[in-house]
Amino acid sequence: MQRIGVLTSGGDAPGMNPCVRAVVRTAISHDVEVIGIHEGFDGMVRGDMAPLTARDVGGIIGQGGTMLRTARCPEFYERKGRIQGLRELNEAALEGLVVIGGDGSMRGALELHKLKFPVIGIPASIDNDIWGTNMSIGVDSALNTIMEAVDKLRDTASSHQRAFLVETMGRDCGYLALMAGIITGAEVILIPETETTIKEVGEAVEDAYARGKTHCIIISAEGSSLDTHEVADYLDGLEVGFRTRVTILGHVQRGGSPSAFDRLLATRFGVRAVQALLEGESGVMVGLLGREIRTTPLEEVLSRSRTANIDYYEMARMLAR
Ligand code: ADP
Repeated sequence: MQRIGVLTSGGDAPGMNPCVRAVVRTAISHDVEVIGIHEGFDGMVRGDMAPLTARDVGGIIGQGGTMLRTARCPEFYERKGRIQGLRELNEAALEGLVVIGGDGSMRGALELHKLKFPVIGIPASIDNDIWGTNMSIGVDSALNTIMEAVDKLRDTASSHQRAFLVETMGRDCGYLALMAGIITGAEVILIPETETTIKEVGEAVEDAYARGKTHCIIISAEGSSLDTHEVADYLDGLEVGFRTRVTILGHVQRGGSPSAFDRLLATRFGVRAVQALLEGESGVMVGLLGREIRTTPLEEVLSRSRTANIDYYEMARMLAR
């Protein structure tokens, strides 16, 4: 292999940059040229790409976002769009591709593999919803962002005897909300994987007040079955000792400098992905399994989805007393 491509796709995640850097420098150390494809599959279909040298990826290890930019690409859902993308890859004389992105991007990568183009996936998604890896790139940084925000909210909550309802990202997977709840000592955690009624939330908040707590933190994943504002209105209607405030963390969770853990994970993934390509692997995703970086076929990765571990949910409930 003499020339490979790299792209970042789908939702951005802190750590994509150190991953691109690792891909580029690993390839160059094997005398393989790297072409950076801009804005994911969209740039591929449009042929928007440019060579990346070792210097081009200097100084990005600590930067959030992605220097290659990312996008959604509707054309790639269609065979016609994928064939156009493949044509651009061949025209640029690329012999392999590294796709850094979430679940959807891994589907795009698998489709390219089915068209016989060598491709390796790298999981990057703050939701941690991708099967085949214990952690995706960006999860740890997002969790740190949530933790800092909730710690600050707790200070003001205590001063004013407030209940804070904090909504995190996580449409189908409650991992972020659950882990954030544990590490911030939240009183209530709402995730898509469990059913909690609005009444149960009310009881937990009343209970926290009765036990003498000066504040109450409720962390809710955006995909939980309860609507954040409805819960807040309900709690205020109860007239417990707390007044309720809502904070929707939103896109701040995607931003910021990648954490130490994410930089290391992204770097290990990037190195391993290039090695896998050079060893002739294709249609696989690199992942952290135990302490090792291993590859799993994309077919298998995409046949399952990772959900939050309910054991942690029980643990959080016990510790919130
Ligand atoms: P993420 O990678 O963060 O999950 P998306 O689900 O939006 O984000 O996927 C990113 C891009 O991957 C899509 O815009 C599309 O170009 C491509 N993609 C997603 N699913 C498929 C699919 N089933 N087949 C082909 N391409 C796909």
